[in-house]
Amino acid sequence: MSGSAQGSRFKAEAKRYMKEIILIKNGELALKGLNRCTFEDILVKNIKRRLSDLGAVTVKKSQSTIYIEPNDDDFDFAEALERVSLIFGIAGFSRACVCEKDINDILTKSVDYLKESLENVKTFKVEAKRADKRFPLTSPEICRELGGKLLSAYPHLKVDVHNPDRTIYVEIRDYAAYVRAEQITGAGGLPVGTAGNASILISGGIDSPVAAWTMAKRGLRLNAIHFASPPYTSKRAEMKVRTLLSKVARYSGCINFAIVPFTEIQDEIAEHCPEEYFTLIMRRMMMRISERLALKSGSLALITGESLGQVASQTLPALVTTDSVVNMPVLRPLIGMDKEEIVRISRNIDTFETSILPYEDCCTVFTPKHPKTRPTLELCEKAEQNLDIERLIEKAISETEYSYID
Ligand code: ATP
Ligand code: MG
Repeated sequence: MSGSAQGSRFKAEAKRYMKEIILIKNGELALKGLNRCTFEDILVKNIKRRLSDLGAVTVKKSQSTIYIEPNDDDFDFAEALERVSLIFGIAGFSRACVCEKDINDILTKSVDYLKESLENVKTFKVEAKRADKRFPLTSPEICRELGGKLLSAYPHLKVDVHNPDRTIYVEIRDYAAYVRAEQITGAGGLPVGTAGNASILISGGIDSPVAAWTMAKRGLRLNAIHFASPPYTSKRAEMKVRTLLSKVARYSGCINFAIVPFTEIQDEIAEHCPEEYFTLIMRRMMMRISERLALKSGSLALITGESLGQVASQTLPALVTTDSVVNMPVLRPLIGMDKEEIVRISRNIDTFETSILPYEDCCTVFTPKHPKTRPTLELCEKAEQNLDIERLIEKAISETEYSYID
């Protein structure tokens, strides 16, 4: 899950004698009251899990701020920033320098700590907040002292209290003082796990990883289901799906992954059903099996990467015939999106380059020459009447293989 492979956007700035932490403030999170507390607790748990292999760290919540405090010098701070930037439920975060509650310590450390933040700006202002009212200086006095210190240390700067290029924040809290510069935009959304579990039907294409990411962003914990048809589909195609899921997992956290053998079902469809219904019947079989696996794994809904009218199996009449074999809600977050919009997200979340690798998917292997675009339920049921549906489903489920993607 290391972000360093891609080259981190972040680097550790603090000098050895300074302690640097990450502060997460979600401001006016849309949720209030008890819900808010539950959401924050889940977010803290998610953060702890995602940083657990980076070294000793404390993640704690106090007065609607989450503190991420490294406990030793070996903690990989740059990688922690990279990972925090991908965690859903965080609107913005900042890195901050920890100072003693002493104005001289604040002034000395700030000059060093803010060097890079102030290098390329012309104007700044200081905002101070005292949660600890026993601190001997008032907030305006702190601003004046630090403003003056920064002006003399960095002569290229001017103060602009109305429209500064950079705002420096000083906070005097219970145990320490914190100095921080700009807020970094977070991944947004809701903490994964707050909306329950759902199962994504994942292929190796562009759309389904984007659908998975989109729903994880709304707080769903993901289980993933992939239908593989060896020898029509290769081990490389399966590895591609694993890679895609591990890219999604950078945002969503751990994903339970089920690989369902689909070869026999496809062979039976090819042998017993009219060709123009191949894809539709395949999709109906996938939905039936997925619903059962979803129930077993505690999912409340299925997710697919379908977009209205994109291909023959995604026209409205076709979607009606696939929906009709399941009782669970089917979430289709891409239903109203153009391919271009989907591709843009796919590039942003770094799944695109993997998705376009040219390995076969089970759907593409058996594509009919003239797929039915306006099927009716009745005709579909007739087309699959010679399949032993129940036997095929049970066999596929009994041979399904499970693993975790992190
Ligand atoms: P994608 O880019 O996600 O492959 P697509 O446009 O190629 O989508 P289809 O191949 O018709 O569309 O598949 C529609 C949806 O069905 C996919 O988004 C995915 O949710 C699901 N799906 C397709 N193939 C598989 C598969 N082999 N295993 C699991 N789910 C699949
Ligand atoms: Mg596909």
